[in-house]
Amino acid sequence: MADSIADSTAKLEINDASATPATAPAADNAPKLQLDEETGEWVSKGELKKRLAKRAKKASKDKNKEGNNAAGEVKKSAAPPKKEKVEDSPIDTDAMFKQGFLHEVYKERPVKPVFTRFPPEPNGHLHIGHAKAIAVNFGFARYHGGHCYLRFDDTNPEAEEEIYFTSIEETVRWLGFEPYKITYSSDHFDTLYSLAEKLIEQGNGYVCSCSDSEIKLQRGGEKGATPRYRCEHANQSVEENLQKFRGMRDGQYKPKEAFLRMKMDIKSPNPQMWDLAAYRVLNKPHHRTGDKWIIYPTYDFTHCLCDSFENITHSLCTVEFFLSRTSYEWLNQRLVEYQPMQREYGRLSIEGSVLSKRKLKELVDKRIVRGWDDPRLHELIPPTTLIGIRRRGCPPGAILEFVNELGVTTANSIIQMSRFEQTIRRYLERTVPRLMLVLDPVPVVIENEDDFEGTELTIPFSPKTPAMGDHKIKFSRTVYIDRSDFREVDSKDYFRLAPGKTVGLLQAPFPITATGFTKDEITGLVTEIKAVFDRSGKKPKTFIQWVPAQSAGSKTCEVRLYNSLFKSENPSGAEGGFLNDLNPESEIIYPNAMIESGFDEVRKRAPWPEAAGEDKLGKGGPESVRFQGMRVAYFAMDSDSTDDKIVLNRIVSLKEDKEKS
Ligand SMILES: [Zn+2]
Repeated sequence: MADSIADSTAKLEINDASATPATAPAADNAPKLQLDEETGEWVSKGELKKRLAKRAKKASKDKNKEGNNAAGEVKKSAAPPKKEKVEDSPIDTDAMFKQGFLHEVYKERPVKPVFTRFPPEPNGHLHIGHAKAIAVNFGFARYHGGHCYLRFDDTNPEAEEEIYFTSIEETVRWLGFEPYKITYSSDHFDTLYSLAEKLIEQGNGYVCSCSDSEIKLQRGGEKGATPRYRCEHANQSVEENLQKFRGMRDGQYKPKEAFLRMKMDIKSPNPQMWDLAAYRVLNKPHHRTGDKWIIYPTYDFTHCLCDSFENITHSLCTVEFFLSRTSYEWLNQRLVEYQPMQREYGRLSIEGSVLSKRKLKELVDKRIVRGWDDPRLHELIPPTTLIGIRRRGCPPGAILEFVNELGVTTANSIIQMSRFEQTIRRYLERTVPRLMLVLDPVPVVIENEDDFEGTELTIPFSPKTPAMGDHKIKFSRTVYIDRSDFREVDSKDYFRLAPGKTVGLLQAPFPITATGFTKDEITGLVTEIKAVFDRSGKKPKTFIQWVPAQSAGSKTCEVRLYNSLFKSENPSGAEGGFLNDLNPESEIIYPNAMIESGFDEVRKRAPWPEAAGEDKLGKGGPESVRFQGMRVAYFAMDSDSTDDKIVLNRIVSLKEDKEKS
């Protein structure tokens, strides 16, 4: 777990030999720093040893107290409990196809080529559960050398909007998958219609004009306690049914006045066999077929048939469709030759506040949040939208790793947000460069006489991954540190900067000792700190991040830290309505943060990491400019950034629980 000294040593190169003082602390005198992985701080070797010992002691104490109640999952996940992984190697994202449930599904029908499909309804943005469906369906096909369709299940013209088609397609690609073909259920409206007539001709379909309450009674009443029965319409002749069905098509019925039912098995214990609807009158134009149709097929009628049309070998869906498997097979066996195979896996969702779509819309419409892709919305179920997760900066590879880590079984899993964030954190730790960022900068003027101004320091982007390369920053006489790293009055248990106290500057040639400070009389805030280099060679206990002055290339940026959008777990239950439950600290903005000049190269070289679909989408979006702000958090560039202004979002904190309210 601890770094080797070699790769965590602060690399120091003073390029301008003439500027090097005689007493220069060449590499041998440079502090041997090690990364404290838990806090993200660079500390001396001795300090790290002390910290680790202290934590080990605490951990064993906690373990005795808690027993083995360790999981981040709150509900049944049939996946075997996994040990927290500490190693850095990426997870094999094909693992879920090599063993377990999906391996068994393939063994049931070991054919080539494999055809699968991802069939979203285009009536909303995709959420984390869809990410699993995408990983399962596209991944299964890819693993077996087959193909996966992106099929828009567009049989309900009332709910569809163009924006969702675009957003869904882009999200699939963002996750690194390429659809074999993009298809639409509506492509098959003609065929579906003639198959519906075929069903009627077989005596397996009838046009019913019963009301909702009558249908409920036929299906056993309120509690399903009374005997189930068929209505009189089930006895109509084929001719009468055909005539009425054509009447539906030709506009002789208003919505709800008549619908086509499948004559299945009303006595079956399976509700999916209780003469389901196949076609209904909607009287709405369709975005692809215009006003050609006023009747539309239902999901139960359409889905299985489209699977057959596209030669789907393994139709993988979530467990709430388990009972539908019977109706799926019932219909396909009656109408088509090619029989696809449906199997069901457990759904994935993330715990969070539950809000109706209407309330979410209110948040967007009233501009309480920054649009549907506001990073705070990703904590809400629904939608836990992938576009929100994306804008916040979460890499697609981390989502795939998360799905894989949980495994695919038949059990549903509701995962705590903290566990999802832990996966993101681990992924970023391995894959993004490190930079120095100061949220609330205070200038420190270093008053030594020798001229360090302009000296270049060479700093690796990652102490663990030399392949990421390094970059140079220029040292300046005035540097900026974070306000929280300075105290006006020193105390014994405080190890950062205070008058008379010495602290290390990460990657810098010497530690500094504060000699004084000035304050703004009105605000009471420290406006400037004076300091000198400490050349005693004594190693400081703590190192803090800093940035050089703007004249040396640093830039001002706006940093946004996100917390939960609501104060409580159940905003809908708040007195006076859910808006009263808004967390005033859901977005904390640092308008004058400063970032070192290495950011320019990180931005130029994005996406970080170069993985999944981001490299295929040109240069990736602004959110693919990711880095670890040393001692602060992981950040990504927000889409509000322009050429002149950098806006950064915090993706996740460096360690768990830090900012949880
Ligand atoms: Zn009826």
